[in-house]
Amino acid sequence: MNKRIYLSAPHMGGKELEFIHQAFDENWIAPLGPNVNGFEQDLASYSGALHAAALSSGTAAIHLALILAGVTTDDIVMASSFTFSATINPIAYQKAKPVLIDSEEQTWNMDPVLLEEAIKKYIEKGKKPKAVIFVHLYGMPGMIDEVADICKKYEITLIEDAAEALGASLHGKKLGTYGDYGIFSFNGNKIITTSGGGALVANDENKIAKARFLATQARDVAPHYQHSEIGFNYRMSNIAAGIGRGQMLVLDEWVEKRRANFEFYKNAFENKGFTFLEEREGAFSNRWLTTAVLSSDLSFNREELRKRLEEQNIETRPLWKPMHLQPVFKECGSYLNGVSERLFEHGICLPSGSSLSDEEKDFIKNEIIKMLN
Ligand SMILES: *Cc1c(COP(=O)(O)O)cnc(C)c1O
Repeated sequence: MNKRIYLSAPHMGGKELEFIHQAFDENWIAPLGPNVNGFEQDLASYSGALHAAALSSGTAAIHLALILAGVTTDDIVMASSFTFSATINPIAYQKAKPVLIDSEEQTWNMDPVLLEEAIKKYIEKGKKPKAVIFVHLYGMPGMIDEVADICKKYEITLIEDAAEALGASLHGKKLGTYGDYGIFSFNGNKIITTSGGGALVANDENKIAKARFLATQARDVAPHYQHSEIGFNYRMSNIAAGIGRGQMLVLDEWVEKRRANFEFYKNAFENKGFTFLEEREGAFSNRWLTTAVLSSDLSFNREELRKRLEEQNIETRPLWKPMHLQPVFKECGSYLNGVSERLFEHGICLPSGSSLSDEEKDFIKNEIIKMLN
């Protein structure tokens, strides 16, 4: 059997160990230290946000953003339905109420028209939403300009879940910097990884300082341990941050490799019953995962394709199952138009790692061609 081809494997650039060695040499084996500070500076200067806090996960970053936005029990938070559960779970941590908004066709991300309709309805009911969490799925820039305008108009905090979108931009401005807060993830399958980790970015220095405070158990300034607020253990370790500093050196290169994967699949299967998501004017996707929607004219469906490739030790994945279809979120309010359900039914994520070799890509291509014939 051939070596397994993963959907999105970690890909080290080579300099990561140097940063880790430095941490060992100086005994900074803690959730603070020079790599944490350095990684935060790298993230801020790369994204164009003024400040960044390195955290233990993207989920932790979303949780802290909600707390900083003042979200608490029974508050309404509107969020993309077409996403990974980590976008929505932190709303539940705060005992607030998620309202799930469906996608538009062009970028597959939150539909601004549905969002505004939902906001108006909830304002009429006297329950103005506290925050909106907007996801750029698969690294494709969504209608964030429109959503930012809506949030400004109604004075609602905007949190950009750019967990999958580090390196992507719209009109030259990096995703994660359009809202009041941006979050990134460095989980093992993301575009760069720290083995596990995340970050919160914002222009408001006080908010990021508060995030760091809450992430280190909310310790007041005192020689003894004194606490006036509930805190969390959400800081990134200096070892993980060392990996992150090494990964930042290759981020743009890895984005180019992922974009090349997309071009490869598109050239191979466009007009053969596979539809690919194009970038609109001004959009630059990091192509975290190459996704395709299968035509119902094909002789096989998404599951048959997935299973056949799995038999060849090739990992693929259906598109995210929308949150409004998840048993755990079925009681949530939702504004739907059928787009995310159709995408879930017919869409697939193809192997997209930046370390995929030409031989592996050809192998995948040939397996799919066999099915097409
Ligand atoms: C990965 C991911 C997260 C969560 O990040 P973790 O670092 O795994 O906690 C949040 N939102 C989206 C859309 C993701 O893909």
